[in-house]
Amino acid sequence: MTQVSLSSVLQERFADLQLLRYGVPGFERLPLRQKLLIFYLAEAALWGRDILWQQNCPCGLLLRRTLEAVYVNYDGPKDCADWQAFSVYMKRVWFSSGIHHHYSCLKFVPEFSRTFFLGEVEKLDASLLPLRADETPVQLAERLADIIFRPEVMPRRVNTADGADLLLTSSCNYYAEGITQAEAEAFYAGLKQKSDPCRPPMLGMNSRLERAADGTLCENVWRSGGLYGEAIDRICDALLQARPYAENERQQAVIDTLVSFYRSGDLRTFDEYCILWVQETEGEVDFTNGFIEVYGDPLGLKASWEGYVNIVDREATRRAKALSDNAQWFEDHSPVDPRFRKKECRGVSAKVISAAMLGGDLYPASAIGINLPNSNWIRAEHGSKSVTIANLTRAYNEAARGSGMRQEFVIDEATCRLLDTYGDLCDDLHTDLHECLGHGSGQLLPGVDADALRAYGSTIEEARADLFGLYYIADPKLVELGLLPDGEAYKSQYYSYLLNGLLTQMVRIEEGCQIEEAHMRNRALISRWTLARYPEAVGIVERDGKHFVAVYDYARLRQAFGELLAEVQRIKSEGDYEAARQLVEQYGVKLDARLHSEIRQRYRKLDIAPYKGFINPRYTLVHDAAGNITDVSITYDEAYDEQMLRYSRQYNGLKEF
Ligand code: ZN
Repeated sequence: MTQVSLSSVLQERFADLQLLRYGVPGFERLPLRQKLLIFYLAEAALWGRDILWQQNCPCGLLLRRTLEAVYVNYDGPKDCADWQAFSVYMKRVWFSSGIHHHYSCLKFVPEFSRTFFLGEVEKLDASLLPLRADETPVQLAERLADIIFRPEVMPRRVNTADGADLLLTSSCNYYAEGITQAEAEAFYAGLKQKSDPCRPPMLGMNSRLERAADGTLCENVWRSGGLYGEAIDRICDALLQARPYAENERQQAVIDTLVSFYRSGDLRTFDEYCILWVQETEGEVDFTNGFIEVYGDPLGLKASWEGYVNIVDREATRRAKALSDNAQWFEDHSPVDPRFRKKECRGVSAKVISAAMLGGDLYPASAIGINLPNSNWIRAEHGSKSVTIANLTRAYNEAARGSGMRQEFVIDEATCRLLDTYGDLCDDLHTDLHECLGHGSGQLLPGVDADALRAYGSTIEEARADLFGLYYIADPKLVELGLLPDGEAYKSQYYSYLLNGLLTQMVRIEEGCQIEEAHMRNRALISRWTLARYPEAVGIVERDGKHFVAVYDYARLRQAFGELLAEVQRIKSEGDYEAARQLVEQYGVKLDARLHSEIRQRYRKLDIAPYKGFINPRYTLVHDAAGNITDVSITYDEAYDEQMLRYSRQYNGLKEF
């Protein structure tokens, strides 16, 4: 089965989550060598799973193993309300790789009773539980029940709220308990002073900050023989099994350098790996494996583990290539101050890919576009790789069709038709512009610290890339390049972007809460700034007690996006922390409680899950009678809980934690 049909895209649905299945187009037709490369890289993408669980929470694996033991061994009635609530909790914890919501970062509120949990754990044979020496199941159950049920224990995984000590109020496991934000910032400021200012390594990226016996701070590095070394060794084994099937010598060098980084933990080696990885553009199979994104650290230094494997989508790649071939034209015509433009725009490679395996922080919730590496100097000197993950986008689009969102929230029939006609195409193109050109555009002024925007850096960076895409999607150049059919198409993107930023993205946020996540802050910032500054172009109107986005002048909107792009680029280029703070705090954080409540109510009636994630395909080696590998099969029949439990058994990377 190559294509996953519409009926099988939609899988299990619970809480605010919907699981989807994605197909890997063309896998069966690949030569055996490429199939084996994918197989072993996929193994490497799964072996780091336990690392992420420990990064997200100091007791992540302890909780997972205990909850799974209850889930697998429960033999009471299945219609018991406590059991049903427990099953949903288990599935949510799997989805988040921890006990906090993957998006809001707030701890889940369990809907089963403490008594039920204690009773089920105490029933289990001690050999099934991750007990400490001398600990009884009762003691373990009490210890975990405090974490699960007491709201004041670990309430939030990542806290980015202005004003508080971000480390003391975040429960992620990147800093040992008791280390303050000021201490950590001073520690890394000290390291930064000693490091190369022109080509700074990603300081702090691959370690947990801890306090030594004498009270000083020190890094416990994630490497072979160090913290998480056991899982890292298994990742290296899988990478080395993939190596003989690499498509070219550079791909082999990428694997070798990554393994060497995993063994030493040396950040210089990581930079070498990134450079080799950017330069390797010939292979059809590609992968990322390691400590990559920093959204899980309130200080934006420590990177969560992720792994993914992909294969090129040749058809869609042609579209992205048309953009990157013209990268310099886009840079030269951008509305930003010429001082902030890149004089030579190079290395923006553009490839559309299909995901073949998602792991770590990309599983089950995944990004649909990836732009790496994150190091600014490597991006400036060597460029970056930008990819759009076409098969995941396709699965999202199929799931969205017929959901009723458009009928409820789009202002009129004509706008609905606009979105039906151009929506999918423009969404893809905006993602391409964001990833292939937006993130790669612009430059910092000499001497500006890349981390100057601190906690606001991620939001501003996403806003910059989105604005670049919004500004250019309306440019006649895209019609000229054959990427859009006509000058009307961009309007669908403008409408749907503002609708999302002003109204519909609120459905993902619990009432009483504010916007926390960087991409959501960015979309609110852009939309609400535009609403405030360009009332002649866009407004919010009320009809029969319901609010709608009304666009009055699409051409003016383009001017608005251009103006804000220029300002956001200035903030980034000059490292203007105060301006970033004001922009984000003024437009990107707070919600209007009445509007929020109305939107949530209208949305609830549609009964759609706001968050989606993916079930991976399963790859299996096929042997002949003599034991030779003759093929790699791909199957799409594993259920969500089966997959999670299999991963826990099969990729049990950290026995000690
Ligand atoms: Zn982005």
